[in-house]
Amino acid sequence: MNTVFCRGCAKEIGETTRFCPGCGASQVLDGILVRKKNVIYASYQNVPWFRQRWFAVICCLLFSPALLFILFTGEIYLEKQGKVEPIPKYSKVILLAVGVISIIRITIVIFK
Ligand SMILES: [Zn+2]
Repeated sequence: MNTVFCRGCAKEIGETTRFCPGCGASQVLDGILVRKKNVIYASYQNVPWFRQRWFAVICCLLFSPALLFILFTGEIYLEKQGKVEPIPKYSKVILLAVGVISIIRITIVIFK
């Protein structure tokens, strides 16, 4: 079963769960279940640590495979004027490029 993050507490719950077993928050927004790719977070503290911008930067520098994994499974979030927003598309493209280049570079070093 696929999992999504609770809109209330960001705990991982089943994709078709209507109410979070942890905090009881409704997962239905305008009649549509909120899916993993466009989770709406009430505050930056609710964003899982691996989807926060600082972690993306660390991944960029140290763990490019992890960065690529995170980019392909959802969004990375930042806090802007008190609101939680996914990073813009162009930032995602830049991160992807850096990740791919790093992996190629690492592969060359390992298999030379
Ligand atoms: Zn919850």
